[in-house]
Amino acid sequence: MKPPRTQPDMENLRERAAVLVEALPYLRQFRGHTVVIKYGGAAMAEAGLRTQVLKDIVLLEHVGMRPVVVHGGGREITGMMRRLGKEPEFVDGLRVSDAETVTIAQMALLGTTNPDLVAAIQQQGGQAIGLSGKDGGLVTARKLVGPRDLGFVGEVAEVNADLLSTLLTQGLIPVLAPIAAGPANETFNINADHFAARIAGALKASKLVLLTDVRGVLTDRTDPKTLISELTALQAEEMIAAGKIASGMIPKVQACLDALDQGVAQCHIIDGRLPHAILMELLTDYGIGTMVVRAEKGK
Ligand code: ADP
Ligand code: MG
Repeated sequence: MKPPRTQPDMENLRERAAVLVEALPYLRQFRGHTVVIKYGGAAMAEAGLRTQVLKDIVLLEHVGMRPVVVHGGGREITGMMRRLGKEPEFVDGLRVSDAETVTIAQMALLGTTNPDLVAAIQQQGGQAIGLSGKDGGLVTARKLVGPRDLGFVGEVAEVNADLLSTLLTQGLIPVLAPIAAGPANETFNINADHFAARIAGALKASKLVLLTDVRGVLTDRTDPKTLISELTALQAEEMIAAGKIASGMIPKVQACLDALDQGVAQCHIIDGRLPHAILMELLTDYGIGTMVVRAEKGK
């Protein structure tokens, strides 16, 4: 509905038009490009923020980009585990997953988080389709092997990129839950950052954007003023070894490096609590969070 015609505030109107025009070069640059957005944390849990994030994603689709959403659901899984009398345990940001935990994770992600996100995107005028790795054999998994046995924690073995491309060409926004089947048809729980990186790689995405509930990678985890705007692979390795990058930030940084190795052009870790963080990152000159790079420019 149009508001009644009154004398316009010309200054304000001109500013609004200017904002659109300033976005033009970015819109042109990214038209037809795939952007994978990992979504989780406070930006997903809090209703007001969630609407803003989803509006941004719908807008990206409407201006000709191809957004793909991968969601976490850490809070939901932990909540359901506790209700069922289980205490979660994490190793370097990964949830130790016995058979029961992976069942609970699947229940939470595919029973609640995924369909709710799909419905919320629909409500904002987008056309979303919710899938897990199992649907259409989109993603197959294998056990993640590391220094400690984490049970049914998986890593992506293969991605059916054609299936996603078909959906994207139809103007659909895929909303993906990081659950996939392994070679013996066992269910694996995959860290959503790792999952998003593999999806971005398979789609040759232009960008991987990881939304989280801190400003980005911090030198001092307790001080938001210590944001690192550009993090190199070497710096990341040193910070992980020194324990300065810990817990849930480890898989994020790993995911960015993995995506870069697979040919994804740019990887960003940004604060999903900032209203319209995605648009600020994609459609302005300003990098609001941490961009992860292989090496400093010129090196
Ligand atoms: P998400 O739900 O977005 O995946 P996680 O809790 O898994 O969030 O990961 C983000 C968390 O990583 C932050 O909330 C913070 O506690 C932790 N963290 C560890 N090291 C750092 C660091 N150097 N900079 C920023 N956050 C860090
Ligand atoms: Mg996490």
